[in-house]
Amino acid sequence: MTAMRALLGITMALAFGWSTALAQSGDNGFPSTAAAGAAPKASAAAAPKRPPEVVAAKTLFGAVKQAAPTPPSAIGGYAGGCLAGARALPIDGRAWQAMRLSRNRNWGHPELVRWVEGFAVAAQKEDGWPGLLVGDLSQPRGGPMLTGHASHQIGLDADIWLTPMPARRLSYEEREEMSAVSMLAENKLEVDPQRWDAARARIIKRAATSPQVERIFVHPAIKKALCESASSMGPDRSWLSKVRAYWGHHYHFHVRLGCPNDSASCKPQPPPPGDDGCGAELASWLKLISAPPKPPGPPKPPARPMTLDNLPAECRVVLETGISRGVVKSSAGGPTAAPAQQK
Ligand SMILES: [Zn+2]
Repeated sequence: MTAMRALLGITMALAFGWSTALAQSGDNGFPSTAAAGAAPKASAAAAPKRPPEVVAAKTLFGAVKQAAPTPPSAIGGYAGGCLAGARALPIDGRAWQAMRLSRNRNWGHPELVRWVEGFAVAAQKEDGWPGLLVGDLSQPRGGPMLTGHASHQIGLDADIWLTPMPARRLSYEEREEMSAVSMLAENKLEVDPQRWDAARARIIKRAATSPQVERIFVHPAIKKALCESASSMGPDRSWLSKVRAYWGHHYHFHVRLGCPNDSASCKPQPPPPGDDGCGAELASWLKLISAPPKPPGPPKPPARPMTLDNLPAECRVVLETGISRGVVKSSAGGPTAAPAQQK
């Protein structure tokens, strides 16, 4: 075999060996004995030549179908970590439905899942909101994702649509294809009064007043609408400081919980600035958004993807736990031996 072909073989083995093993996995998400038996052949030949770190962490985390069967722990930072002991948000609840089920991102730290469930019920009961359509939480073991989000890696972030839940159970196909509705007016600097309403402001305020919530991200136009309507929702404006403007987020708002007590390795984010964010910060966002787009520069080389080495060391364990044969930590001996605890 030439060096070139060997290299190709290694790449293929790493790319397909892992996904094949997982694709053949049983209901529990761990490779079946047959799949585990099939995988090492390719990996054993490939393993010694190239360290596993060349595999993007998103490829590994994106392939795992089930949570790590360990006590819950959010590990690392919101945009660089993983999640042990995740719980899945049930796809249907009395006050919510989960969307885009094919992505398998309805997993979170149990505290986040409980929070979403409680919030959905309260928003329905107290704010006249028909129910939540819930977008992405995290992957079963958190970590970077193949598409979308830089954050959502440690099971403490949730995207909640600004489209109300319909009064019927959506089909799997509808949950894949139904479009979320943007709240923006044509100028992108304001919300569209035909779509934005007081109930949306009320549910965002409810989320922001929750003690577990540390941040909410919304489009600058939504932040502006909240700044303008806060006084009509009561004298307290302090909740506005948790609601910060950010790119995107005009179809949904993004809720971020603080580090739970059970997660010693969770890296907290700095607290939000003490102000309500309605002054200079909002003005600079609106200016940024109204600026004409810059002409495209020369094409940049693609950024090097995050690898397991860029994540906390515990994430390697999270990735492997309960998986009988992984290629994650392959050494000269090929795939790692099965860890002691299973499922
Ligand atoms: Zn988000």
